Order: sequence, then C-alpha cells, then structure tokens
Amino acid sequence: MKYDILLKGGTVIDPAQQLHDARDVAIADGKIAAIEKDISETRAKQTVFVKDKYVTPGLVDIHAHVYAGVTTWGIKADPVCTTAGTTTIVDAGSPSWATFPGFQEFIAQPARTQILTYIHISGIGLVYGPVGEMHELEYAHPGKVAETLMQNREGTIGVKVRQGRAQVGDNGVEPLKLAIQAAELAGTPVMCHIGAGVPLPDVLKLMRPGDVITHCFQGRGDSIIDDKGRVIPEAWSAREDGVIFDVGHGAGSFRYEVAQRAMEQGFVSDVISTDLHTGNINGPVYDLPTTLSKFLHLGLSLGEVIEKSTIAAAKAIQREDEIGHLKIGTVADVAVFDLIEGEFEFFDTHGTKFVGNQKLKADLTIRQGKL
Ligand SMILES: [Zn+2]
Repeated sequence: MKYDILLKGGTVIDPAQQLHDARDVAIADGKIAAIEKDISETRAKQTVFVKDKYVTPGLVDIHAHVYAGVTTWGIKADPVCTTAGTTTIVDAGSPSWATFPGFQEFIAQPARTQILTYIHISGIGLVYGPVGEMHELEYAHPGKVAETLMQNREGTIGVKVRQGRAQVGDNGVEPLKLAIQAAELAGTPVMCHIGAGVPLPDVLKLMRPGDVITHCFQGRGDSIIDDKGRVIPEAWSAREDGVIFDVGHGAGSFRYEVAQRAMEQGFVSDVISTDLHTGNINGPVYDLPTTLSKFLHLGLSLGEVIEKSTIAAAKAIQREDEIGHLKIGTVADVAVFDLIEGEFEFFDTHGTKFVGNQKLKADLTIRQGKL
C-alpha cells in the first residue's frame, strides 16, 4: 500500500510529542501514517518537498466568529482557514440555542474546515455590534443551552458569555452565573469574554478549572494589569486553579502594552486565538499566523507559539484526543509554514505599531489528509 501524501524534508514541530526535528510525514486514508527520519518517495503517490519549512499540526483557533449571513460579525471560515494552516476554528458564541440548528446546517456541515462552536448564554446570541445581549437577564435560558449542548456534543464546546458593561448593563456577573449554571447541567466549560465595566476579580472568582478567559490581554479597563502595571493576584490564583487564559485578539481586545507587561512578569497566555470577525479580518488580525507572529515578537519561541495554537488550544476545547498533534493514527490535519525574515509592521487594537523581524506564513493546509 502506498501513502497518499508524503511531506518530505521539513522540520516537524509537534509540541504534544516533544518533537522539533527533521522528519518526513506520511499520510494515508486521511490519517497520519508515519513520522520518520527518511521515508522514500517511492512509497507515496504524491510527494511534497518542504525543505526549509516547518510542518506542524493543523492550527486550532478557539475564538472566531463565522456565522456569516446571520450575524454582522460572521466571516466565511474556509477562505481564511485553508490559506492559514487553520484546520479547526471555533465560533465563540455567535449562535444561541435558538439559532444553533442553522449554524450546523448552513455553516459547520458544508465547510472544509472543522467548525465547532460555543453556544451563547443569551438566547439572541451575538447578532450585531451594538446589541448588549445580556442587558436583560431573561434572555438567558440555561436549560435550553444545556439541552442544545447535550444533544450536539460533537459540534459544540461549551457556553459563551461576555462580561463587559456594554454587554451586561447593570447585571454585573449574573450572566456569568447563568452561563456556569448551563455549563454545569451539560458538563462543559465556559468561555468568558472580559472587558471594561465589570471588576475582573469578581469574574475570576467564579471561573472553574478548565473554563477559559478570553481577551486576556485586553486593555480597555478592568484588565489583568493594575494601575502600577502589575498582574493582579486574582489572575495568578485563577491560573493556579486551572483557569485557561486565551488571547482572543479581536478588534479591541489586544493591547500590546498589557501583553508585554504581563509577559515580563511571566504571565503568558495558555492559548493564542484570533477572535477573527468582519471588523478585523482586513487588519489588525488578518489570520492566526499573523497573531502568532506578534507573539514571536513578544519573545515566545516558534515552538511555544505552535504549542499555544495546537495542543494547548485543543486541550482548552477538550478535543486533545482528536486534534492538535500528529500522533500516528489521528486525523491528518497538518500545516506547513515558512518563517520569513525581514521587517514586518504589526498593530495591536489600540493603534500601537511594532516591528517584528519574523513572520509565519502558511504554505500548505491539509485537512483530513486532503491538500
Ligand atoms: Zn469574539
């Protein structure tokens, strides 16, 4: 039997297997079939030479908005994922329990990219920008959300809630409590957006091990940094308790200075995600490799940024058995990258420009063994 595809001559980075070395990768029947130092071309139907390139697990973006045509945030997933090495993308709560069936039928099922989703605690989901989806507590139906999650384990991750004053009005952390109620009924994690106007310690106190804080480097107020530039103790203790911190770059939620200050103190995010939506796909986010490149500039190694966008991301969405690594026998979701040297301008969401000297650029995206 011949392999379908052989990726020959590249450097494999698979943090889940502590692998960062020259290896050939063979794919057969949509699965990883072999990773060896030298696999002969004669054993494969198609050989792709990837000399001087990096071969990694397909990227897993745990925060984006892809409910195109139903919410103003929604982008089409395939065009941005299949050109970026992203093989799994997670919608962070655009659908509600009420609009989830349409998401499954018209967005997730037809896509080449694996699309999963959090279900928003608000019954109206994320419809369009200015709507504060939890100004009214009666919009939340924890029972309905839990039922949707339990009936659709394969396509769903957990419960989404946004905890900024713009989204919750005077309701404080009540929406988060309702989200946790739904998550406990269904046995899933919560992803909580943090923003200005709700004290962060109040939010962190409620988060459970395995829950995800997204927009961890936001700088609009009530951030993880206090007015002396120090990471607040509640953030350290939440992390110790097993709360996961995710970037969720977005259009307003990644402040370079917050990331830099936090990282200087050793507070590095567990996961790097984009929060891609219509308001940032043409800059400053563009795609996940661009976001990863920003963290190369902030001092992380290539291995670290790949770890935070593959196995660590898969763990955050509790899919580490299936994706985020290149173990033999798992689905062949693979990315090939060039690491380009030069001078590259990057922007955070507050107009701060910084210049990096390396940029990751996807060369190939393989999903389920298909180029
Ligand atoms: Zn978002």
